[in-house]
Amino acid sequence: MKSYDVIVIGAGPAGYVAAIRAAQLGLTTACIEGYRNKDGEPALGGTCLNVGCIPSKALLDSSDQYHRLLHTLPTHGITAGNVSLDVKAMIARKDQIVRDMTGGIKQLFQANKVDWLQGHGKLLDGKVVEFTPHKGKPEKLQAGSVVIATGSQPIEIDAAPLDGERIVDSSGALEFTSVPKRLGVIGAGVIGLEMGSVWSRLGAEVVLLEAQTTFLAAADNRIAREAQRQFEKQGLEIRLGARVTGTKVTSRGVTVSYEDDKGQQTLTVDKLIVAVGRRPNTENLFAADSNLLLDERGFIHVDDQCQTNIPGVYAIGDVVRGPMLAHKGSEEGIMVAEIIAGKAGHVNYDTIPWVIYTDPEIAWVGRTEQALKAAAVPIKSGTFNFAANGRARAMESAVGMAKVIAHAETDRVLGVHIIGPMASELIAEVVLAMEFGASSEDIARTIHAHPTLSEAVREAALSVHKQAIHKAN
Ligand code: FAD
Ligand code: NAD
Repeated sequence: MKSYDVIVIGAGPAGYVAAIRAAQLGLTTACIEGYRNKDGEPALGGTCLNVGCIPSKALLDSSDQYHRLLHTLPTHGITAGNVSLDVKAMIARKDQIVRDMTGGIKQLFQANKVDWLQGHGKLLDGKVVEFTPHKGKPEKLQAGSVVIATGSQPIEIDAAPLDGERIVDSSGALEFTSVPKRLGVIGAGVIGLEMGSVWSRLGAEVVLLEAQTTFLAAADNRIAREAQRQFEKQGLEIRLGARVTGTKVTSRGVTVSYEDDKGQQTLTVDKLIVAVGRRPNTENLFAADSNLLLDERGFIHVDDQCQTNIPGVYAIGDVVRGPMLAHKGSEEGIMVAEIIAGKAGHVNYDTIPWVIYTDPEIAWVGRTEQALKAAAVPIKSGTFNFAANGRARAMESAVGMAKVIAHAETDRVLGVHIIGPMASELIAEVVLAMEFGASSEDIARTIHAHPTLSEAVREAALSVHKQAIHKAN
């Protein structure tokens, strides 16, 4: 039986990073990946590179350029005539970026001598992995350690069965070849907001149906309120407390039935995106006698170091507890590779940044004010609006705010929440600050270049102690 020090199952951002780090550390490594892209070609990179983070950000950027050209550039004194939109070209650009990025992982595997085994992986007893190639017979491989990184897939709901035409999931929402006149989205979560923004900027009338009565419940309340205000101003219609009960597809569209506090309602749209969360990929992944334990929600059960109940078998990324974020999975991949190599791997789960790539962007790290208050932690907080930030004004992007929350007694930063321009980039500074256990005073006393958006973060930190310069405290 062929053997490897490490066999990784799944080559998304969790698995491919684990495989590269293991190989860097001198371990013989194979990575089994069964994905085929829409051209039928085997591809590395998982959900993130093929149908997730990267293609969605490509379309968010394209749609942002188009929207700015029409709606923001005139304010700068620039007008363009005969503006046209070629959705097929936009999708083709997105596809090329995906091809380049997934091809890049293939090259990294070659450079690091990671064997890419194209097909299906299944865990058997005794750290034996059964590999079934796309074409060919199953083969048994012996692993010193196994890393399961099989990711997740969209949750489907009976009330809105996908037909790939009128009713699609997030992957289908990346493939529209024209702008739907009316677009419905079930779920006003991260995917609903990002994909809703893409098609809204390109001209669709977008309605989001959200079951919860609170908008963006995971975000800080103040930021969520501001986000809802901004999105509604842009024309995204967000209907909260909407429980979808059924859908009817006709040649002219989809009629969605739902209930809210006013009773039974209907909504007719041309396309409907179902974005109600994702579930872990565990089907046909392990033999019954492998004794791998799942938790009550169907995720693979792991401890803080991603060790499963079987010694030497680890699980990382979306298939285990924690936020379904690419960078969280990648960090777990590095941790387990280092642990397998006998080093001290570690993930700080308290400093995982979250980003929603809407306009304005939303980003946060650490805990929200409502969570800290519920836990009776004494806090002080400070905010600063981008309206008073020179760079944001110059960019014509002066919306939103930065908010810093610190412990009332120690001043240690417990959470930073930003809604505004380039929040995705601004959050990195405070992630680093929290990683070093910074106080709000540390951020406030750090020199920030002028004029930059980052000054808003500094002013929010100053504002914790009512010392902000560019606002009345
Ligand atoms: P995946 O990326 O799902 O990869 C798992 C891989 O394992 C897949 O390629 C699958 O084919 C393979 N596999 C599964 N079972 C087997 C098997 N038995 N044998 C062989 N191979 C197998 N996150 C962010 O952090 N930022 C974003 O901007 C972002 N945007 C997103 C946008 C969209 C539209 C979506 C859907 C997701 C987005 N995410 C984003 C989430 C992110 O994509 C996931 O958190 C991330 O991909 C999880 O990585 P993973 O490696 O755990 O799993
Ligand atoms: P999500 O959990 O962010 O949002 C799903 C929303 O659907 C929730 O608000 C939920 O209340 C609602 N919902 C659930 N069932 C419903 C129903 N029957 N009717 C109406 N609403 C319903 O999940 P998502 O948007 O599908 O994204 C999946 C995962 O992918 C997320 O965990 C997210 O972390 C990840 N992701 C991350 C990014 C990013 O980091 N920028 C982008 C996209 C996706």
